[in-house]
Amino acid sequence: MKRQRVIAVGSYPEWDNEAMTQSFSLTTVARLADLADLDPSLRHETIAVAYKGGAAFGAETMDLLPALGVIANFGVGYDAIDVDAARARGIRVTNTPDVLNDDVADTALAMMLALCRRIPDGDRFVREGRWPKEDFPLNRKFSGGRAGIMGLGRIGRAIADRLVGFSMEIHYHSRSAKEVPAGWIFHATPEGLAAEVDWLVVALVGGAATERYVSAEVIACMPQDAVLVNISRGTTVDEAALIEALEAGRIGAALDVFRNEPDIDPRFLSLPNVLLQPHQGSGTVETRRAMGELQRANIRAFLTGEPLLTPVA
Ligand code: NAP
Repeated sequence: MKRQRVIAVGSYPEWDNEAMTQSFSLTTVARLADLADLDPSLRHETIAVAYKGGAAFGAETMDLLPALGVIANFGVGYDAIDVDAARARGIRVTNTPDVLNDDVADTALAMMLALCRRIPDGDRFVREGRWPKEDFPLNRKFSGGRAGIMGLGRIGRAIADRLVGFSMEIHYHSRSAKEVPAGWIFHATPEGLAAEVDWLVVALVGGAATERYVSAEVIACMPQDAVLVNISRGTTVDEAALIEALEAGRIGAALDVFRNEPDIDPRFLSLPNVLLQPHQGSGTVETRRAMGELQRANIRAFLTGEPLLTPVA
């Protein structure tokens, strides 16, 4: 059978490149913008795009690939892809849900514990030879606090389940109440949730619908010394209001995602009450392998006329 043309956009590890090369007639480009430079005959025979990246994948780009049938996104968050434009062109879109829930939830917990128990400071304290000369300052207890999940979806739920193991009181806000274990507290508004918790963990989808969902008003509702944890997308939080609250020393933050990442607002860099991570939520070998496999399985399903495994459009 003739192997069909697939374009892989983004930087893939060797194992994905090898697997895609074995299955498809593969062209690789580093960035979406590079598609325009490809030979038109190659663009015209492209059936599928394996997309890995945060750049906006809109109508104009789709129109460079007139035979395109599916965009298989590497990642559960597909907010970079204009799904309406894809639908209008009969292009299917898939993502990679569930296989990354554990890692993103583990990352959230790791950031919370690291910030609360000042793990990076402790490491520096030992390395700098200060331990024999001074006492490491006491920090704050983690177990038994009040945690609020903003968006109790797949990842939000995985985070909440872990926090139960830390005897946390679990609060959440979603667009409607969910079936949850007894004792978990639903808040109908984001402000209501923010006001009642020590940890506000944002696990929303990104995109226009959730732009600044954690607004200046929501941040203003957070109690003194509460911590905002964001593992969703930088767009879900009013970053200017967050930085203002951090600079005032009113709250803390643990952030894996930012607006304009990786070129983040430089004001974050000098704030002592924020823990910064390089968007590494799903970044383990095991999970990235599983994400690549699911991405390819979706492409293969499309090419062979089988039902898509994890379609979003
Ligand atoms: P999910 O199961 O679809 O859950 C998404 C949550 O967003 C749900 O609670 C949902 O609310 C809420 N939501 C969706 N549309 C909304 C709207 N218009 N207004 C208010 N709330 C809305 O997604 P997931 O698999 O948990 O993934 C969540 C996000 O995590 C991804 O989209 C991605 O951006 C991010 N992520 C980050 C990393 C990282 O490395 N840091 C890795 C993977 C994913 P309801 O509960 O009301 O339905």
